[in-house]
Amino acid sequence: MRVALCRRRVQSWAVRAPSASDGLSASGPDAVLVLRNVTRSFNGLPAVRPLSLEVPREQTTVLLGESGSGKSTLLRLMAGLLPPDSGEILLEGVPVTMETGPALRQRMGFGLQSGGLFPHLTAADNVTLLARALKKPADWRTRRLEELAGLVRLEPAVLRRWPLELSGGQRQRVSLMRALFLRPAVVLLDEPLGALDPVTRGELQHELKHVFEALGTTVVLVTHDLQEAAVLGHRVALMHDGSLVQVGSLDELAAHPASPWVERFLAGWRRGPSR
Ligand code: ADP
Ligand code: MG
Repeated sequence: MRVALCRRRVQSWAVRAPSASDGLSASGPDAVLVLRNVTRSFNGLPAVRPLSLEVPREQTTVLLGESGSGKSTLLRLMAGLLPPDSGEILLEGVPVTMETGPALRQRMGFGLQSGGLFPHLTAADNVTLLARALKKPADWRTRRLEELAGLVRLEPAVLRRWPLELSGGQRQRVSLMRALFLRPAVVLLDEPLGALDPVTRGELQHELKHVFEALGTTVVLVTHDLQEAAVLGHRVALMHDGSLVQVGSLDELAAHPASPWVERFLAGWRRGPSR
């Protein structure tokens, strides 16, 4: 579904050339989400310091950083679930505010570490909940359910189960189907694989990458895991203490770290056995 309201785009940022010096500009000509000078504090303590970022279309942008660096706060700001203290956030050119948030969130897909499935609905009903609320035709829903189940490799029988009857990996696959169901402009995922065992986590990282590429999905994914960022991220936005310290591919960051802190943060990854 493409809501006309959201097709309107602001062109001013779209023509801005990427700048090697700030590293914050989208690498492509088209950004789905734009954040300009956004800040947010809690009880006087800054969780997100003045920060600008563009999220390029059909790419996965990974918000990477240690616990408490402000990643989840930034994701909630993007979703319009939390108002910024200052600055602005645009989804396809439309300001994300507390007023526009509810309508714009129909253009966003969400995924959480827990999966966030409603326990009293079957997997399939969880996936189609919003589509049914928006009165999407039943045959469209059935086709979309089959298409996505095939992509995330879930059997129809599994979709008839209750969330409690699913493994952690299956729950995340269902959660991903729900996030993708309405062809959102952007999918926002907060540590989606954080609760899984390492083997399932590794498998799902590669499956997620395949699904996003197959569908051309624009994704913002939060993780503290460098390996996950390396598998999934076209671009990594590295956060430290509420600041965005560097943006680029992990290889670019490793080759040209913006600060000694970045170098230290990446050192473990560069030495890791998977490199
Ligand atoms: P991350 O997701 O990177 O672990 P968060 O965005 O959750 O970091 O938190 C960043 C900082 O903001 C932390 O110091 C955290 O304690 C604080 N914080 C986040 N949400 C709230 C809140 N609702 N109330 C008060 N402090 C918060
Ligand atoms: Mg978090």
